[in-house]
Amino acid sequence: MIKINPMNTYNIEQYTQKIKPKVVINKITKKQVHDKEKIINKRRTKNKEKITEIDEFIKEANTFLNTRIKNDLEQLISGDMKTILNIYDQYAETFEKLIPKRGVKLEFSFEQKIMNYLLRDIFNYGEIISKGNMAYEIMSILNVNVCPYCNREYTNTIMKGKNKVIRPDFDHYYSKSEYPIFALSLYNLIPSCKICNQKKREKSFHYDINMYPFEEGVEDKKVFTYELPDYKIKIQKEDMEDKYGRFLKNARILNIEEIYDGAHRNVVKNIIQKHKSMNEKIIDVYNQRLGTTISQDENVLKFILGYTSKEEIKNVSLSKLKNDIIDTLFDENIS
Ligand SMILES: [Zn+2]
Repeated sequence: MIKINPMNTYNIEQYTQKIKPKVVINKITKKQVHDKEKIINKRRTKNKEKITEIDEFIKEANTFLNTRIKNDLEQLISGDMKTILNIYDQYAETFEKLIPKRGVKLEFSFEQKIMNYLLRDIFNYGEIISKGNMAYEIMSILNVNVCPYCNREYTNTIMKGKNKVIRPDFDHYYSKSEYPIFALSLYNLIPSCKICNQKKREKSFHYDINMYPFEEGVEDKKVFTYELPDYKIKIQKEDMEDKYGRFLKNARILNIEEIYDGAHRNVVKNIIQKHKSMNEKIIDVYNQRLGTTISQDENVLKFILGYTSKEEIKNVSLSKLKNDIIDTLFDENIS
């Protein structure tokens, strides 16, 4: 729901230089294809499938890998979302036997499934990024401190010297099982908390349907509202503007409303009680204690209640919830 800091060209280049040499494209062999057949057929008790024209399949797969994938590799690794989707759609067009058309539900033919498994071995996220220090290095580049999907969990990356201490997960915006060619794409990797990553699992978000945190967030929109007497937290659903609609679709998959309501009513209660007890006297006490001379200005009052500036929302856990509740209190005061 919160937009991620843009990356600079230097960092993108660094990433590409590190990842590109690790993507190895060899000629596909019959044995590989048979192995993949076995993997796919393993889940089936009957109707086991086989590729009928294996030589033809291998020929086409090798052409695809050695001409297109090799040529586009750099773009696939470092290109922005529009670029990599464009490349994908070209593949689905030209190599329709191997690559399924993009869609909310991908429909794989048997050949396309085999190709999918072969691509998983080439764009091997587990080996190339997850293991070793690579994930830490990328996370440090992205410098995302709070999960952009939920604004709840801290997602700092911390190293002690060369030792890894903590790092968040990488969510694959387009899942790596459905879209293996995006498994290493920088703009497909969303640093996220473990909970959001687990909620989304192997599902894909879709650029034209879901909110995409590298490009947009809902900092400007009121998302959270509450209901008395028990401080029930709700996500407002009236605004159906495109961007907000995309956010709501993410929120549904990630269970944002349920999680906030289940976990953070106390935050709302606390703000409302504080607000009730606020009067001129409090400002006087503040002024005395801190030696300040603040007046009973709306911004000051908001600040005391825990308001976060718009630019800082992405760095402060629960700040979106708090801001929305505080804004509501002041809106109510006016009316
Ligand atoms: Zn999260």
